[in-house]
Amino acid sequence: APRSSDTDTGRRTARPGKAVPVLVPMPVDRAFSYMVSEGQDVAPGQIVQIPLGPRKVPGVVWEGPADQVDPKKLRPILKVFDCPPLDAPMRAFIDWVARYTLTPPGLVARMALRAPAAFEPEPPVAALRWTGREPERTTPARRRVLAQAGDGAAWTKAGLAHAAGVSASVIDGLVAQGIFESVMLPAPPVVAVPDPNYAETALSGEQRDVAELVRDDVRESGFKPSLLDGVTGSGKTEVYFEAVAEAVRQGRQVLILLPEISLTAAFLDRFHDRFGARPAEWHSDVSPRQREKVWRQVVTGDVRVVAGARSALFLPFRDLGLIVVDEEHDPAYKQEDRAYYNARDMAVVRARICDIPVILASATPSIETRVNAASGRYGSLRLPSRFAEARLPDLTLIDMRRNPPARGGFLSPVLVEAIAETLQKKEQSLLFLNRRGYAPLTLCRVCGHRFQCPDCSSWLVEHRFRNQLQCHHCGHGEPVPQACPECGTLDHLVACGPGIERIAEEVDRHFPEARTIVLSSDMAGGTRRLRIELEAIARGEADIIIGTQLVAKGHNFPNMTLVGVVDADLGLANGDPRAAERTYQLLSQVTGRAGRSGLASRGLIQTYQPVHPVMQAIVSGDPEAFYERETDERRKALLPPFGRLAAVIISAPDRAAAESHARALRNAAPASSDVSVLGPAEAPLALIRGRHRFRLLVHGDRQSDIQGFLRAMAAAAPKPRGAIHVQLDIDPQSF
Ligand code: ADP
Ligand code: ZN
Repeated sequence: APRSSDTDTGRRTARPGKAVPVLVPMPVDRAFSYMVSEGQDVAPGQIVQIPLGPRKVPGVVWEGPADQVDPKKLRPILKVFDCPPLDAPMRAFIDWVARYTLTPPGLVARMALRAPAAFEPEPPVAALRWTGREPERTTPARRRVLAQAGDGAAWTKAGLAHAAGVSASVIDGLVAQGIFESVMLPAPPVVAVPDPNYAETALSGEQRDVAELVRDDVRESGFKPSLLDGVTGSGKTEVYFEAVAEAVRQGRQVLILLPEISLTAAFLDRFHDRFGARPAEWHSDVSPRQREKVWRQVVTGDVRVVAGARSALFLPFRDLGLIVVDEEHDPAYKQEDRAYYNARDMAVVRARICDIPVILASATPSIETRVNAASGRYGSLRLPSRFAEARLPDLTLIDMRRNPPARGGFLSPVLVEAIAETLQKKEQSLLFLNRRGYAPLTLCRVCGHRFQCPDCSSWLVEHRFRNQLQCHHCGHGEPVPQACPECGTLDHLVACGPGIERIAEEVDRHFPEARTIVLSSDMAGGTRRLRIELEAIARGEADIIIGTQLVAKGHNFPNMTLVGVVDADLGLANGDPRAAERTYQLLSQVTGRAGRSGLASRGLIQTYQPVHPVMQAIVSGDPEAFYERETDERRKALLPPFGRLAAVIISAPDRAAAESHARALRNAAPASSDVSVLGPAEAPLALIRGRHRFRLLVHGDRQSDIQGFLRAMAAAAPKPRGAIHVQLDIDPQSF
């Protein structure tokens, strides 16, 4: 039943018969008008159910004037959910993200309102409590039940039966005799409240200084972004845990963003060690039912700490006191699906709106964040050395021109030798290659035919374990044929270049006795299996691990003392101005997997470009010069963060239609002194899933109103017809 709102928003409740704006979680540009019915108290932020066409959908009561609708056509709000309203900062955040990313506010609201069942309070749970009466006849099973329930606590039937080790029928018998009474308990919390004093870490001197600063920021509250910069293993996590502890002490909520769900399992354990309870998890692997509960308890304030992927940013916290963005440089923070946003940047916006501190942690910060820290816009916190006896690995470049692999192989003799030594010492090696499958290209030796995806401009990747050729962009798969489809010759297909499966084959040839594990995001068994494998590795149950970037990040493998990078040049080839930065970040992360305990360790990096600034930055251990150079180039070209960029992707099944609409958009660009348009040109992936793609790059000065420019351009252009689709991407990943 609707109840009157007892929050401060209650003062602004709308009277029955009045029209109010309601934002529906759909791709709509504005709130629609609905009528308040008799007995409803409706205030901004409340979650309501409304009719939309033939359907009933949830919506959020919004602010501002409702649009004018003929009162006779105005449809009523069906129901006001018994759920705390989205508060003013949350609504402001949704509006801000919508305006900045040029995403319809309804779509942004949808990210905040994922789970409809969450809007109703959870029903209480039926439980039993011992009345204190003794049964007429006791049995050993009954005595066990009473011993268990003797302290007067309430139990669910199943819980009591399990704890006493009896069948449910034993308890039914006792209930029938009136030995137990039925009680209703509130739904249990999804996670226990973390205890900030559970297991305090003895911090090193330099850690303590930084922890003191972040604790002060949390205590004083107020918007305060900080970069927490320190090599892998320096204790960044330990330090930001102190900020989390302080926020929990203050009774406030905390959001910790992690780039990769494969990292959360180990993270949750670590959090538990420190706080005696786990944070609530939020990512695509959490069941919808569980997410409903978490959502509900985040809004009510019962969940205190959430650790999650980028989508957790849109949880409507009741009293957020701190945000942490771990591995802030990670490209996984960029969502490019329906709504395009960078969760790292939006986290800073949310912190500003909520007026709270935000900690951006990374061993290899993004140029954007470094520039902000250098200019004083962000605080700068540094942990220069690894904790305790842990030492950074010795890093060496292997010049592949001088150390060519054996014929048909990809591992240089130096690297093979190092793996052998590591095996001998009973320590672990990691071979890193950021390419799934067996071989990135398959061709016919006779006619030169190359296997390409029918729907994308990309080569099909051979997956030998599955005997398939696969497209990594759309998932298209076909069996590896015996004969070339072009010339018909049998058994003359050759695999070109390595993927991790092929490296595994080579490792097997060299070290048939070694226990190897191959890890990539597409392995059978998904994240569950990945978790099991990661734990096995951490326990030392594997000798050689061969993996993609999945194993590059965050994991702590105490016995890993060798990291071999199979092809360090891989990411440098694509011509993207961010390529060098990205490669540097990835290579430092992956080599940082070695030497996490006190053991001496090394990283061997195979490259054909040993003098490349990225390679020099990696081995020198001093990335300053590299970062300066990259930053300088950005500054000269007025690229982010010194200028602003947006990409407009125009796609259609028909190439000519896509191109001509791209031209029309370009021609509709308003005159501007500080924003210009480049293109149209074919997008970096010119064909995906059967859609041809063209791109306009919009470049503006730092202070320019790039959103206003894009809105004007879209308004002046003809509306995209038919299957033509226009996607705006503010701050694109690649440019
Ligand atoms: P980062 O987040 O910078 O990579 P972590 O916080 O993960 O660093 O610390 C690296 C390792 O060192 C972890 O296993 C952590 O438990 C340990 N460690 C760091 N600081 C301390 C400390 N003060 N006391 C005990 N262990 C620590
Ligand atoms: Zn494809």
